[in-house]
Amino acid sequence: MELSATVKLAQQLVKIESITPNDNGCQNLIADILSKLGFKITFIKHQGVTNLLAMHGEASPFLLFLGHTDVVPTGDENTWQYPPFSGEIVDYEGRAYLYGRGSSDMKGGDAAMVTAMCDFVKANPNHPGTIGLLLTSNEEGDAVGGTPYVAEYLKEKNLIPDYCLIAECSCDETFGDSIKNGRRGDLNATIKIKGIQGHAAMEQHAKNAVFEASRFIEKMLLNPIDHGTKYFPQTSFQVSNIHAGTGADNVIPGLCTLRCNFRWNDLQTPEKIEQHVRAIADSLKLDYEAEFRAEGAPFLTEEGKLIDVLSSAISEVTGKKPTLGTSGGTSDGRFIRPLGPQTVEFGPVANFIHKVDERVAVDELDRLHQIFVKTLEQLF
Ligand SMILES: [Zn+2]
Repeated sequence: MELSATVKLAQQLVKIESITPNDNGCQNLIADILSKLGFKITFIKHQGVTNLLAMHGEASPFLLFLGHTDVVPTGDENTWQYPPFSGEIVDYEGRAYLYGRGSSDMKGGDAAMVTAMCDFVKANPNHPGTIGLLLTSNEEGDAVGGTPYVAEYLKEKNLIPDYCLIAECSCDETFGDSIKNGRRGDLNATIKIKGIQGHAAMEQHAKNAVFEASRFIEKMLLNPIDHGTKYFPQTSFQVSNIHAGTGADNVIPGLCTLRCNFRWNDLQTPEKIEQHVRAIADSLKLDYEAEFRAEGAPFLTEEGKLIDVLSSAISEVTGKKPTLGTSGGTSDGRFIRPLGPQTVEFGPVANFIHKVDERVAVDELDRLHQIFVKTLEQLF
């Protein structure tokens, strides 16, 4: 099979072991390709994190492609069918896939953005406006020194994009079915629920903290924080960790610690969610302590030229009319959207990200490339 430039580049990137926050040369490879076409290359490094800013043109409007070159760890490599950094093209049920850690999140998308920019600039060397690419090596980690750092740089240099397009996996079931026009906020909480420790055979003198926690969880599940909005699902409540017990079989636990995660929509604030949680706990007369840690706010682009142009490009290439939605994990779009640009994500189907045997369908990458070329042609 003859591989396209997009798939070849994606394959080269997957072969580079760039576990967050180590870029390990991915961005150099891309900078070499873009500099040959006249892109102005700036590396912005901070606290061991590498960021690449590549720009072509100086006028407005300014479209910024956004991506990341870091990947999550592989876990036990023996559980993978092929080595996770082999970049093999593998056939699954008659369809060719690029295999490996980062293939779908998001080196395939990175490659499609880069080759689309190359094709567009080759065909339109004197295009109006500015086309840019920002890649970071700390998206999967804590983002320190990554996109938020470069967002400050962009502000200082007055390089504010009009549009931001992110090739993160956005599709739900089939390629072309969904654009993410925002993402939910993220809030963690640690809730320590107290009972009275005692002998398992002397229950009349004890209060089981696990039972107290169960009452709390049940009431949380029966009382959703909200019912969602046009673009956002309802604010979710999850218990991610639960701990209680002394290790002995005959002791009723006096403390149950819950770690909870909330993915919240634009009806909420971390303060409102905290109020909801405390109201539920208070209504059950629980003895508890709760501590909340906000990780990120939701962002949304309701409408605009970028969504219109991207949607029509997707329809032309896939025959589908994509829906707009905000489900799934957050992205670095949350650091760019506050600068003002219309910010959306469109990329492959998200079913293999962060998994063992991560892979991405080769035909999705080629169609993603076509969609980005059409988007550029229609925006400029
Ligand atoms: Zn990603």
